[in-house]
Amino acid sequence: MSDGQTVADALRAAATRLGATSPTPRLDAELLMAQALGVSRSQMLLQRMGEGAPAGIDDLLDRRAAHEPVAYILGHQEFYGREFRVTRDTLIPRSDSEAVVEAALEAGTGPGRVLDMGTGTGALLLTLLAERGGEGVGIDRSAAAIAVAAENAAAIGLSQQVRLLTADWTMPGWNEGLGQFGLVLCNPPYVEADAELDPDVRDFEPASALFAGPAGLDDYRVIIPQLVQLLLPGGVAVLEIGATQDAAVSALARESGFAVTLRRDLAGRPRALVLR
Ligand code: GLN
Repeated sequence: MSDGQTVADALRAAATRLGATSPTPRLDAELLMAQALGVSRSQMLLQRMGEGAPAGIDDLLDRRAAHEPVAYILGHQEFYGREFRVTRDTLIPRSDSEAVVEAALEAGTGPGRVLDMGTGTGALLLTLLAERGGEGVGIDRSAAAIAVAAENAAAIGLSQQVRLLTADWTMPGWNEGLGQFGLVLCNPPYVEADAELDPDVRDFEPASALFAGPAGLDDYRVIIPQLVQLLLPGGVAVLEIGATQDAAVSALARESGFAVTLRRDLAGRPRALVLR
């Protein structure tokens, strides 16, 4: 960043530079500039545009230009109106997944506890409990992800309402002693092994949270039969799915005896299945 440049000048230059790699160059530039200034984006836009550009912005822009997601650079991501800490050990919560929360809130399953399988940042579990109360368990095979979920639980004030455990649903006995649940949430890995992902996702997000065999169905094949035991009578499971997986995952659910309802995301794509 050349000397004498204002924040306003630097933002224009940064947005032009990030235009080569980001679909949202101006927004990214503003978020990274606010981070370098140590203020919120709105404070920056209202009060700081005429100041000198901060030295720290160059490193942040280099990272974004190399496809690192803004959420990893900032260390947090907004989901359903709350900020969640994210690290490269966790998938970044996506607005698509708000459809899972909406479906679960509408399913209204009474007093049973909630289980979130593959909790990552804890975004699904903690949002649901913050919105409707209750208690829950979050599991993830990544101990590092569970540590992030615990930080998020503390930040939202839900540490006493959740148990967060390192566990792997492909291991027999993973749920020993956990009991049954009124609601199970799961955003499993569901990307096809040979899918061509955006470099922002492919090169930075944890592969173990994304890929699930040739058709992306490997984890559903393991999880869905287990739901029969995990759910209390009358319980509900809400599973996130890929936009083309409705028929295949619905068929797996029916094989295990569930009735299935589809929920679409804000873009109108199939995004969640409700199993009863
Ligand atoms: N929706 C994510 C993506 O396409 C995948 C999330 C997942 O596999 N659970 O990047």
